[in-house]
Amino acid sequence: MNFKSLMATIAASALLVACDKQAPMDINEGKVKNVILMIGDGMGAQQIGMLEEYARRAPNSLYNLTGNETGLQKFAKAGHLGLSLTAPMGADGNLVTDSACSASQLASGVAAGSEMIGLDHEGNVVESILEKAKKMGKATGLISDTRMTHATPAAFAAHQPHRSYENEIAQQLIESGNVDVLLSGGARHFLPSMIKTDASAQAAMKELGASKAIYKKSKRKDDRNLMLEAKDKYGFELAFDQQQLAAVSGNKVLGLFSNSLMADGIAYSACKQADSCTQPSLKQMTLKALDVLSQDEDGFFLMIEGGQIDWAGHVNDAGWLLHELLKFDEAVTAVYDWVKDRNDTLVVVTGDHETGGFGFSYSAKNLPAPKTLPGSGMKGAPYRPNYNFAQVSNLDKLHAQSATFYDMMLEVSPDWDFADTTASQWAEVINDHVHEDYHVTDTEAQPITVRHKNHMLIPGHKYLSANELPVIQDFKEFYVYGDDLHANLIGRALAANQNVVWGTGTHTAAPVPVYAFGPGSISAAFSTMQRHTDVAKKMMDALIVQ
Ligand code: MG
Ligand code: ZN
Repeated sequence: MNFKSLMATIAASALLVACDKQAPMDINEGKVKNVILMIGDGMGAQQIGMLEEYARRAPNSLYNLTGNETGLQKFAKAGHLGLSLTAPMGADGNLVTDSACSASQLASGVAAGSEMIGLDHEGNVVESILEKAKKMGKATGLISDTRMTHATPAAFAAHQPHRSYENEIAQQLIESGNVDVLLSGGARHFLPSMIKTDASAQAAMKELGASKAIYKKSKRKDDRNLMLEAKDKYGFELAFDQQQLAAVSGNKVLGLFSNSLMADGIAYSACKQADSCTQPSLKQMTLKALDVLSQDEDGFFLMIEGGQIDWAGHVNDAGWLLHELLKFDEAVTAVYDWVKDRNDTLVVVTGDHETGGFGFSYSAKNLPAPKTLPGSGMKGAPYRPNYNFAQVSNLDKLHAQSATFYDMMLEVSPDWDFADTTASQWAEVINDHVHEDYHVTDTEAQPITVRHKNHMLIPGHKYLSANELPVIQDFKEFYVYGDDLHANLIGRALAANQNVVWGTGTHTAAPVPVYAFGPGSISAAFSTMQRHTDVAKKMMDALIVQ
């Protein structure tokens, strides 16, 4: 007997002994058939902290009827929780990532450069986990509540020098044959350029079952209708609303439910409450995708993005942020319910980075009145903390916000011209949409109206080419999105009453939580301090052909 066969015999007898005591080891120990990756864009630990405190302690928490447990917490309890560093690992040596780079790294495990889609940091095409899964014969899907062509979903199935190549991304998503289920917004990158004026192109969209809101305008430079091509050349079923999605019966579906981004969290909460939503929710898209993809006996890879958590963070809008987290967690809960009794699926839930430098904080505003406590240790002294440590009632008050700061800006100026706005205009609109305890005075709203010469002027830049900008008084180099800064100033005006602070209008390098659920050692491996490139490698290692 040579050494190798001796070892094989020892291993086999060890296995037999082990089998006496426990269930036989799965020959695929350490492997799974399906991988589901959920990304909360801009969702760091502080954002999750707000959701968890809301679920557990808000007096009127929507979770009061269901045990005050978030979907995230269900995964934390049943699986494992770790942290991950999100930085771009390319040669530039950057510390802070954007969503394109972060998703490229999460998709491939390879160092990527800022704002690139599906390329390594030198610009080479790299294979994503979705593409590997497809090569193994598995079904694949991408879901986002932003646009199908937006950076996060794009990085899993497209390869472009920059995230702004959304028209090219749309083509790749359809033509590559690598993605079976595509559910999101962003029809504008799939429509012929003349759609606004071309009656026959409009008729074709109507024929496909799309409403005018879906095909109102195009961002393409050519006359291709990628939806028609998807249907006729590539065999996709099309869906443009909730009902059409529910009716899909095949294994390839392209669902585009809005011209650009899908409904924001506040609009979704409102239509859900009124039972009047026409777009599918993130949860409904998720359940449909699981339904379609799980028909494939080879297994599947699915990425689901809660993409607007990031946008609420960029404009420092804490009320909107809470509603986005609720929308995302509804989908997380649906995935938990689908997967909880399975042992063939790995679920990873994480953020691609933190956005806003957000947090609840204590302050000198609205100091609590001194009170008497019953405990003898007080020695008769009044209980009088020096600061306002933020009441949990803030969570309900934030939830009561009825429009995003962007919507408020549109109400102040429907044509997005803020040159001559007044403090009372801003105060009136803000006070129409926030809890009464958060109402601002004209004096508090006044800073929102102040504009000055753009000190960061870069000709031709998407945001920084404007001659004039709203004035952010602090950390102003981190507020880089042109007129959107009025929204950040609304955040500043409300912050003290909300007990909320924001460090920036962009992303931070804060490590993000990683939740992992799946069989044994596979999910346990995520319970550490890692990098997003490691997260990708662990997911890819786990995924096999069965
Ligand atoms: Mg995103
Ligand atoms: Zn962002």
